[in-house]
Amino acid sequence: MTLRAAVLGWPIGHSRSPLIHGHWIKEHGLDASYEPIAVDPEGASAWFRAFKTHGLVGANVTIPHKELALEACDTAEDHARRLGAVNTIWLEGDRLCGTSTDGAGFMANLDQTAPNWRDHKAAETALVLGAGGAARAILDALLTAGVGHILIANRTEAKAQGLADWFAPAYPSAKITAVSLAETDNVAGQAGLVVNTTALGMEGQPPLTLDVGRLAPDTTVTDIVYTPLETPLLAAAKAAGHPVVDGLGMLLHQAVPGFERWFGVRPTVTEAVRRVALRDLGVLT
Ligand code: NAP
Repeated sequence: MTLRAAVLGWPIGHSRSPLIHGHWIKEHGLDASYEPIAVDPEGASAWFRAFKTHGLVGANVTIPHKELALEACDTAEDHARRLGAVNTIWLEGDRLCGTSTDGAGFMANLDQTAPNWRDHKAAETALVLGAGGAARAILDALLTAGVGHILIANRTEAKAQGLADWFAPAYPSAKITAVSLAETDNVAGQAGLVVNTTALGMEGQPPLTLDVGRLAPDTTVTDIVYTPLETPLLAAAKAAGHPVVDGLGMLLHQAVPGFERWFGVRPTVTEAVRRVALRDLGVLT
């Protein structure tokens, strides 16, 4: 029987997940499928609660359903409860289980692309720009990885402070400091790792203005925006000689745990799957 998985969102046409999972299904010769399903927000809660009736072994969940999918789960991993959202769900018998793989995807990409980032000051201090859903997952992952001091800067400062307050009890030995976006140039020199999680630098958005000249030598600079693949921030950091990590790898790595849960094979993030995504982004022909 064909094992069916899906990506669930509204709208869902933009998702690159079918391409990635389709590549791995073919690579491993599996009798499996992965399809985009648009789940209308009206009635979505009931749809998730009836998940076992839809003929799917599991799914990725994207905007705007990540929070209500968590509510529908019978069990969820601790960090997903901490984040208040899931992006990956699966059935164990009749029970719906969920997790969030964004943070693990971010870390796996960082470890694969800039394996020496931990040797620098990053183990001490990271600067995270943005305080949205992706920042929340990345913050949790960095704190779990043992980063001792995180500076969070966001346009809406109250959201940065909100994240700092939210994570403080879970990581009592870490220091989490909210700063304003205007202050980032002044604090940037403390960080061994810089992560842009804002939408700035994305096609159609203004660039992020961070003076990379203020960074300590060898500070790793990462951007989770991947359209364009080389954001103005990454281009400036690269020109200044910093190790840089683009956002496409996070997208690919966050897909790995779901595929393994649903289909029983752990896929590898290879150049081949990266090329599939790059072709879709129009970066390769
Ligand atoms: P989100 O929850 O909507 O958060 C958006 C963040 O960007 C907030 O911090 C917001 O600041 C900031 N922002 C937006 N426009 C801004 C502007 N004009 N000036 C300053 N700050 C601005 O979105 P998200 O889910 O965290 O995603 C953020 C970005 O990451 C998106 O570009 C998304 O495509 C990308 N992403 C990539 C991956 C990957 O796998 N590579 C995964 C998830 C997300 P305020 O709080 O002040 O509004």
